[in-house]
Amino acid sequence: VDAAKPFRKTKQREVILEELRRTEDHPTADAVYQRVRKRLPNISLGTVYRNLEILSECGMIRKLDIPGTQKRFDGKTKDHYHVRCSECGRIEDLPGGLIPEIVRHVRDMTDYEVSSHRLELIGLCPECRKQHDPTDGDNSQVGD
Ligand SMILES: [Zn+2]
Ligand SMILES: [Zn+2]
Repeated sequence: VDAAKPFRKTKQREVILEELRRTEDHPTADAVYQRVRKRLPNISLGTVYRNLEILSECGMIRKLDIPGTQKRFDGKTKDHYHVRCSECGRIEDLPGGLIPEIVRHVRDMTDYEVSSHRLELIGLCPECRKQHDPTDGDNSQVGD
């Protein structure tokens, strides 16, 4: 980080950050724009894009680069993991606790010191599963 160029807090940036932090659905830039616009009607999509880039460069948010889809943004910066639906593209956070185990194994097996990680699991979300197989999940007794 360039100390000569301190991170500037602007109203727009603050609102973008707030909107991202209070959602868990990993919105695209367009979706962020739609939300921010309700509070700042004059903001442009370009401004939202630019600020999202700056915020992710500063490490205040995360950018999720998913090949073949629009970038998504995440207000959570602590290491955590995602599961993505291959059908509708929705992304959810995975519960923590699984990964320290993997990191430990990697260290044992490769001698790497792991400093950060990204992990994405891909599958079908409950909604899409229902559509694929209407009998599955239709059972009201199902509960895990
Ligand atoms: Zn889905
Ligand atoms: Zn996330």
